[in-house]
Amino acid sequence: MKSLSEIDRVYRFYAKDLTFRAAVVITTRTSRTICGQLQTSPSATVGLSRALSGAALLAAHMSEHQQIGLHFNGDGPIAGVFAEATYEGELRAWCGNPQVDAIRQQMNSTARLDVADAIGKGVLTVVRSVPFEKQPRVSTVPLVTSQIGQDLAWYLEQSAQIPSLISLGVLLAEDGTVQCSGGVMIELMPQSDNAPASPGTTTPNETLINRLEELAAKAPPLSSQIEKATNAEDLLRVYTGEIPLVASDVIHDLNFRCRCSQSRLERSLALLGGHEIDEMVKARKDIEAKCQFCGATYVIKLERIEDLLAEIRTADATRKN
Ligand SMILES: [Zn+2]
Repeated sequence: MKSLSEIDRVYRFYAKDLTFRAAVVITTRTSRTICGQLQTSPSATVGLSRALSGAALLAAHMSEHQQIGLHFNGDGPIAGVFAEATYEGELRAWCGNPQVDAIRQQMNSTARLDVADAIGKGVLTVVRSVPFEKQPRVSTVPLVTSQIGQDLAWYLEQSAQIPSLISLGVLLAEDGTVQCSGGVMIELMPQSDNAPASPGTTTPNETLINRLEELAAKAPPLSSQIEKATNAEDLLRVYTGEIPLVASDVIHDLNFRCRCSQSRLERSLALLGGHEIDEMVKARKDIEAKCQFCGATYVIKLERIEDLLAEIRTADATRKN
């Protein structure tokens, strides 16, 4: 039988009294696949795996056919980390500089670059796509620690005023590949009777948060827990203690899947704008473009680039009138 850490899946839970909802994700194999394709060095492997688990956790409580993209855009040498997840469990990720640890070697240091140093200071942009909405919902918050987990908790607090606890864990094997990877998220539900009874006393939510924070402070590193745990509820129990839980029967497998296509690539080319595309037309050549997530290459024929330019010009003319 395969251990918990080898089956990539999202598990959903609720507190029996509905004070919080929670999710547990295992992303070991997906992280291994993506990092293998991108040939990431160790700190990029950790950063990408954390981001993948974070995206899978945030997607866990969305609705069918919704997807979320997380872009950690900092001034550090990794040059940005991006992870995307759908509610149904399709994941992909990318980073600007997979060989980020080369910087340490240049400095003759053997220590691994910390994820926060690799990402640097900057912003987290969250893009949420909902079916039948033309434009995705985009929000941006400053990175608070650049360690990914706390940045996501901060985003949830800012965007929905909902306190949450997010723990992400990645363990690397000796050869630098992912031994296990996953995450746990607990999100408090909005409470109607959440006012303090009298000044100086705590609200029910505050009492619950204090309890959850106490448990989180005592919890051993999540990566070692993922390796040992035999089921997802045991993993969550480290953070919820004796609070009664209900497991949702909606469970999705998590898989690497890139949804790139010729038409998606052409649409992103159109976003470059008329001037850039005009230059491409002047060059009188087909363009070869590579998907940064999966490495697939697409050829856009010169005739198609000319069509795109004509479409942009027509759209511009309509806007001016
Ligand atoms: Zn692709």
